[in-house]
Amino acid sequence: MNDCLFCNIIDGKIGAKIVYSDKNILAFEDIKPQAPVHLLIITKKHIERVSEARKDDAILMGELCLVAAKLAREKGIESSGYRLVINCNKDAGQIVFHLHMHLLGGRSFNWPPG
Ligand code: 5GP
Ligand code: ZN
Repeated sequence: MNDCLFCNIIDGKIGAKIVYSDKNILAFEDIKPQAPVHLLIITKKHIERVSEARKDDAILMGELCLVAAKLAREKGIESSGYRLVINCNKDAGQIVFHLHMHLLGGRSFNWPPG
């Protein structure tokens, strides 16, 4: 088994509550939600962190945002608002080293973040 948690979710070897899937992108519920809506939108391609994305990945990076916006609309949080987050490395608190975007909504968030 590949030791990447999210690659194993993509391969169906580890379960997740999947809410969206297409050729390049998968989205599922976060196991430890930090808001009433907390989804993870990931690339099916294994990229360890956003700083590893290359010019060839530009369309893929755009797709992450477009799928996040579509899911926010479907979850009914478009007008109330939502936050998209990509954590990169230690200071940001990245714990899973497979590129993912958090979609958080259903409550208000502080700025600046903690
Ligand atoms: P990071 O801190 O790397 O940006 O976020 C990783 C996220 O993955 C965390 O919000 C964490 O709750 C979530 N997570 C960790 N393990 C699992 C898992 O096995 N299944 C799901 N669905 N989410 C997970
Ligand atoms: Zn992976």
